[in-house]
Amino acid sequence: MTSFKAPKGTYDLIPPRSADYLAVREALSAPLRRAGYGYTETPGFEQVELFARGVGESTDIVTKEMYTLTTKGGDELALRPEGTASVLRAALEASLHKSGNLPVKLWYSGSYYRYERPQKGRYRHFSQVGAEAIGAEDPSLDAELVILAHDAYRSLGLRDFRILLNSLGDKECRPVYRAALQEFLRRLDLDEDTRRRVEINPLRVLDDKRESVQRQLTDVPMMRDHLCEACKSYHEQVRELLTSAGVSYEDDPRLVRGLDYYTRTTFEFVHDGLGSQSAVGGGGRYDGLSEMIGGPALPSVGWALGVDRTVLALRAEGIELELPAATDVFAVPIGDEARRALFRVVTELRRDGVAADFAYGGKGMKNAMKSADRSGARFALLAGERDLAQGVAQLKDLHSGEQTAVPLDRVVAEVAGKLR
Ligand code: ATP
Ligand code: MG
Repeated sequence: MTSFKAPKGTYDLIPPRSADYLAVREALSAPLRRAGYGYTETPGFEQVELFARGVGESTDIVTKEMYTLTTKGGDELALRPEGTASVLRAALEASLHKSGNLPVKLWYSGSYYRYERPQKGRYRHFSQVGAEAIGAEDPSLDAELVILAHDAYRSLGLRDFRILLNSLGDKECRPVYRAALQEFLRRLDLDEDTRRRVEINPLRVLDDKRESVQRQLTDVPMMRDHLCEACKSYHEQVRELLTSAGVSYEDDPRLVRGLDYYTRTTFEFVHDGLGSQSAVGGGGRYDGLSEMIGGPALPSVGWALGVDRTVLALRAEGIELELPAATDVFAVPIGDEARRALFRVVTELRRDGVAADFAYGGKGMKNAMKSADRSGARFALLAGERDLAQGVAQLKDLHSGEQTAVPLDRVVAEVAGKLR
């Protein structure tokens, strides 16, 4: 035993449960890969400034949750708290937006770090699958992303999730609304922190979970009533496209991603079996972000889905994923000669695409058979001196108990046939 433990707010993925995480990452990204999104990987850390600008100085992520460090060379870096700013940075750096082929569609998957108060569904190290469609303003693109996330959750068998949808307006109508909102909020009874938020990032106040705040927001002005004609029509088209794809959603006029460069379409996927950490994924349009990090105007839309919370959602719904067997054949040699012969067969099986494992460590027969059972293998492959003298091994079906002698050079073909 070691006295070291995984750091606070983190946990390890270990078998057998780790298989669910792999399958979830695979399922969340599969619809993207079928929709023209290309795989992207960026470093686990970036310049602090990228996130300060690309996530926003006034967000919880930047003010409280970021892991920052100064390198020996004096660079100010941060472990990435989210993916969008990095992926956009990478696309701009590689000039993908100049390819003449917009939108640039990218997907990613990886670890993210936030210094949060750990609780169920809220960790300091967690995992997301994300997608960004960069450089096009088209309601079909917004709809596409919502549909792909919806289909990804559905492919896992999830049902108890809802899609919340809103529009945050654009640079025409948003400032007018922002001013009206501030005027309303300034008249309320709010603590000092919240009053400061009213001045820097008033939309975020709508998102305040405290009852003392929510109670005062009954008559708060809504973005919905301030949308300009262009935003109204854009949002209506997104809604129609979702409806005709059979994706139901709820209009949530209070849903915000409270940054100035988040625009128009905003959405969140919430799961009703997760308690207070109910958001399994979220995203929206961020037409101003590229300019915020020094790029050209590039209207874009994206989302990030939480892998950890998606796994919790599966458990909440009692869904067992159907995963391919980790081991199909488990070889149990009796004696040194059999050890060499079966090791050769196991190598051949693996080369032929059959998942095969071996009783290592000179275990006795009884122990070795226990390992075979524990491996979940469909077949055990046994051989002792007498079998070898006849050039065979015993292939035992662990489900039916049926056992047949198979010539050593026929094992691969025989197993492949039976598994098919
Ligand atoms: P929350 O409101 O729960 O803090 P968020 O708005 O900070 O979520 P996003 O930044 O939109 O979340 O990230 C997208 C998804 O990543 C979330 O919907 C969630 O599933 C997941 N996620 C975010 N933070 C964490 C965390 N600390 N631990 C586990 N998953 C997380
Ligand atoms: Mg958060």
